[in-house]
Amino acid sequence: MSNTPFNPANAIQDIQVFGEFGGVNPSITDSSTYTYLAGRTMEEVFGGEREGCYLYSRHLNPSASYLGQALAKLENTEVAQVTASGMGAVSAVLMQLCGAGDHIVSSRTIYGGTYAFMKHFLPRFQITTDFVDVNNLEAIRDAITPNTKVLYCEVLSNPLLEVADIRALAEIAKEHNLQLVVDNTFTPMIFSPIEMGADIVIHSLTKFINGASDTVGGAVCGSKEFVHSLIDVNHGAAMLLGPTMDSLRAAGILKNLHTLHIRMKQHSYNANYLAHQFEELGLRVLYPGLESHPQHELFAEMAHPEFGFGGMMTLDVGEMGTAYKLLEAMQNAGIGYLAVSLGYYKTLFSVSGASTSSEIPEDEQEQMGLSPGLIRFSIGLDNDIERTFEKMVGCMKDVGVLQ
Ligand code: PLP
Repeated sequence: MSNTPFNPANAIQDIQVFGEFGGVNPSITDSSTYTYLAGRTMEEVFGGEREGCYLYSRHLNPSASYLGQALAKLENTEVAQVTASGMGAVSAVLMQLCGAGDHIVSSRTIYGGTYAFMKHFLPRFQITTDFVDVNNLEAIRDAITPNTKVLYCEVLSNPLLEVADIRALAEIAKEHNLQLVVDNTFTPMIFSPIEMGADIVIHSLTKFINGASDTVGGAVCGSKEFVHSLIDVNHGAAMLLGPTMDSLRAAGILKNLHTLHIRMKQHSYNANYLAHQFEELGLRVLYPGLESHPQHELFAEMAHPEFGFGGMMTLDVGEMGTAYKLLEAMQNAGIGYLAVSLGYYKTLFSVSGASTSSEIPEDEQEQMGLSPGLIRFSIGLDNDIERTFEKMVGCMKDVGVLQ
């Protein structure tokens, strides 16, 4: 085994795949089904006696396989399966790991769609979830029951930017024989959860990994045994629920993945600059690169430092009405878009409590510290961030956030 620490950017750099005619990009296979020269071979593939053949694109297709192989490099897992969306990955993983009577312990600050899936959808199948403060390890231990199968968190949470201590969670998961499932959507390249003991890593490819806000996609990175179980023709949640990624989309995301390391550095540089400036102005800004962030040290200790502290930042302006005024002013000034999602090359901003976290009831939002005036920013790839900062300050003065 090599002693060189794992570096996700180098792992992706080393991928070399030739297209059908020697193309520098793998050829796109535009087929939903695949031919067999002998009927018996098809029977063997369906029966699980033979591997390595494509059968039908809901199961696997070559373009999705290339992307899956590259994402396995990113997360240093044996294999990865791509899905039609991030929620396609979240739902398939949880339904694969849990059955009637089982229980999940989840961080309480997670993406609203994942929260809604656990809180409202999974109970239909008698799968229940306890939501806990991910930084309170005692509360996590207390929530575990004999039926708990999964410990779930986002490494950097949406939208409160709480950092989960993956090594500590992995220890708890091992003690109780749970699967530690980690969503790394906010921090690809920056964190390698598998290296810290996680069992399964999920991504919404819709965000930083694709980086162009032109497609939705997801991925599950894990062991061969688990990922193969997901696409098992008789029992696999991904195979049977059918969240399949289209070949053309997979090919596009694969090309964008190769520039992810450069983009993450620029997102991080810009967000770090703005966060420090905002803090100096006395604004209520939260960014893991600020020493004032409660888990600043933990983030730094877990991260691959060359990719920085990420592109996500929040600003609390108190009132929702004030937040809307500011976002509208910033959109009108060309700073970015009043839109949900993240990881785009332009800055995106939204009021979390009324959008991507609206699935979480108001009293629970309050308990976890999600204020109605909390703006979530996904900072873009701006070439001159000082110029952007000046524009932002102008907007803040216009709407009374700054004097
Ligand atoms: N995980 C996180 C952290 C997210 O922010 C999102 C979407 O915003 C998802 C998962 C779901 O991904 P998708 O929208 O691609 O289904």
